[in-house]
Amino acid sequence: MLRAELDRGEIDREQEDARMAALLSTGILDTPPEPSYDAIARLAAEYFLADSASIALADESRVWVKSSWGRVIRELPRRNSIFEMVLEADGPVIVSDIAQHPNFDQWFRRFKRLGIAAFASVPVRSSEGKILGVLTIYRSEPAPGMPLDSLRMLESLADLVASQLELRRLRSTLNDSLARRPRPVATVNEIWPRPVDLRRALDNGQFVLHYQPEVDLSTRRIIGLEALIRWQHPERGLIPPMDFIPLAEECGMILPIGDWGLAEACGQIQKWCQEDSDRDSLRVCVNLSARQFSREGLADHVEDLLLQSGVSSRQLGLEMTESSLIPDKGTTLEVLGSLRRLGVCLLMDDFGTGYSSLNQLHSFPFDMLKIDRSFVGRMTEGDQPLQIVRTIIELARALGMDVVAEGIETREQYRLLRQMGCRYGQGFLFARPMTAEAVTELLRLPGQVLPDLDGGEQARC
Ligand code: C2E
Ligand code: MG
Ligand code: MG
Repeated sequence: MLRAELDRGEIDREQEDARMAALLSTGILDTPPEPSYDAIARLAAEYFLADSASIALADESRVWVKSSWGRVIRELPRRNSIFEMVLEADGPVIVSDIAQHPNFDQWFRRFKRLGIAAFASVPVRSSEGKILGVLTIYRSEPAPGMPLDSLRMLESLADLVASQLELRRLRSTLNDSLARRPRPVATVNEIWPRPVDLRRALDNGQFVLHYQPEVDLSTRRIIGLEALIRWQHPERGLIPPMDFIPLAEECGMILPIGDWGLAEACGQIQKWCQEDSDRDSLRVCVNLSARQFSREGLADHVEDLLLQSGVSSRQLGLEMTESSLIPDKGTTLEVLGSLRRLGVCLLMDDFGTGYSSLNQLHSFPFDMLKIDRSFVGRMTEGDQPLQIVRTIIELARALGMDVVAEGIETREQYRLLRQMGCRYGQGFLFARPMTAEAVTELLRLPGQVLPDLDGGEQARC
């Protein structure tokens, strides 16, 4: 039994069961390493100038190394592991010289074999606070000053590991419940919209762009606008994008619809600037979907549009989600590079919702990242969601990127984001997506500054 095997104190069986249940619900133990964990391990090693770093999760008897940067280890006995030290300490463990450690004899052989002389390790905790694993950085020489400054960044990165696990758990729960849900039987007449409806809508000019302001959180100045498409249907009313964009993407209509959207947005920027030349620092961001992104000659196409409308490239932003990027990394880099050379701003949208977002972030030249609104929405629910947002902000800062928090709905979220140093934001608290005419009114406000929120729910226009 595990209890008998341990040299250290009694293990709390209830704690252990809860820990295992939390880990099993993520389904991570029996899967191969994932790129997002590699990215976190690599960032940890680079940030602390360590020789290597690893992320390990533990079952009852073994430590499963889910990623290691700089060394090859995949699985270790849990007994006398760093994981057990962290579990016992219920917090970070720092050993700056293994040779000086009281357990030196017991540990010596294993660490020596692995070329480790010093390490710092922090827990990866579930939302209930259970220690699921550890994030560890290693040095091959004793490191008297380790950790260099503080462990806060390492703890933040460990929270990011936890957030990836949480996402995994949410996804598997969602997939289970979708699989159990009875599928409605649709008759042919009920299927709406069809590709032909999208074609007609485009031909009849039924698509419209609404715009949602993005603000500087410290001044509430409007720094940009996100263009969000809607379908103004004569009988069905205003149809939100999620009801037709997936179909447009599937049937290919997204290309002509996307072209229309880009041209419309550029035309609108031009109009706003014509009215007042002080607005030429305003940027309008357009969402790009997967097919648009993988289209041959995307950068040339965007360049033509900019030339036709006479808009400067820095006034256009392109938002892409992780899923809209091409799986082939080389091609993605090429396309992003050519867009960047044009001078348009590249934004990673819905950051945090994909498994490998971190990996993408580290490798691709995005200027800004937008924290997905699901994280912002949960920020006031507890320490862990708050910590995730904090980590994303710190990470972006470390990578030289600006951050926009999406979906700010409450003053508390606004306050916390400002406190954490998030520079930009967007959400119903400031303004909902609105017509171009309504935006024109807002842009006439002195300094393009939205009124103080103390005026009440002004944002609900
Ligand atoms: P997105 O790019 O992440 O856009 C932000 C979405 O969050 C918008 O939904 C916006 O209305 C909503 N939102 C903003 N602030 C808040 C808030 O405080 N609370 C809540 N609950 N929601 C907020 P919308 O307009 O329904 O757009 C949904 C998605 O449709 C967009 O997500 C984007 O992925 C896609 N989309 C919109 N327009 C286009 C387009 O022109 N082309 C393509 N390819 N996709 C588009
Ligand atoms: Mg977007
Ligand atoms: Mg988004």
